[in-house]
Amino acid sequence: MRIIRTIPDIRQAVLEDRRAGRSIGLVPTMGYLHEGHLSLARAARKASESVYVTIFVNPTQFVAGEDLERYPRDEARDLAMLEREGVDVVFIPESGAIYPEGFSTYIEPPACAEGWCGAARPGHFRGVCTVVSILYNLIQPCRAWFGQKDAQQLAVLRAMTRDLAFPVEVIGMPIVREASGLAMSSRNAYLTPEQREQALALSGALKKIIELYRGGESGAEALLAEGRALIEGAPGVRLDYLGVVDQNTFRSVSTASEGALAIGAVFVGQARLIDNMELNRPA
Ligand code: AMP
Repeated sequence: MRIIRTIPDIRQAVLEDRRAGRSIGLVPTMGYLHEGHLSLARAARKASESVYVTIFVNPTQFVAGEDLERYPRDEARDLAMLEREGVDVVFIPESGAIYPEGFSTYIEPPACAEGWCGAARPGHFRGVCTVVSILYNLIQPCRAWFGQKDAQQLAVLRAMTRDLAFPVEVIGMPIVREASGLAMSSRNAYLTPEQREQALALSGALKKIIELYRGGESGAEALLAEGRALIEGAPGVRLDYLGVVDQNTFRSVSTASEGALAIGAVFVGQARLIDNMELNRPA
């Protein structure tokens, strides 16, 4: 496994892979890896001849006052995990390599970036789109893997990749959860054991929405009222948003139907956590 930190070195590695005709798979991450990230690396490993994982805590996707400075990091542990997955290249650039002096070009995100996390974190998706575009250009992957955990990010990146005609196939992967139901996240490291329990209110509310939908309720307001009540009644949890949306546009739907997404964000202690579940009725 090669560990690469500079732009000239990553360009050289990519050039060698392309000259040899190897298909490149890309998995962008911010590090502090867990099974969710590894599921992406494994899928990339199966489908690509050369797997590139990037570890970059991207400053442009953090809003002022967020957790950029204290975002958890453990490079040695991350590298050991990626080595075990048979990753070929890990790209760990310094911030100044991606955003050198004078950097001033950004991607304007698509319409589906407007609400929800886009509204709660102004500029977040602009930073995400910009860094993923840079990574596409540096690494030139055939395919890139992203988690459904960040469902709005996945919709945004699908739309951006299509609209800007990047020759990249975007592949979404299911959410990996703890046995408790908590969606795995690097930010779970901010939680005390008690807060980890409290955080289950979010997956619990989403599960309740799915259950009611399966029971025949399809009015979004009725579904959301039940979900909100669960979160508002939970100690230590503050609701940011809860919604039922179309998976692609991220517009609210008033009547839930197959494939719509129940989405939510909450604050617990020092963490802002997001999660989502797809509405479907068993055949
Ligand atoms: P991050 O390091 O948080 O930027 O995440 C890097 C990639 O891993 C993104 O595509 C995330 O959607 C994905 N990811 C994060 N957590 C999970 C999870 N629990 N299950 C599946 N994918 C995840």
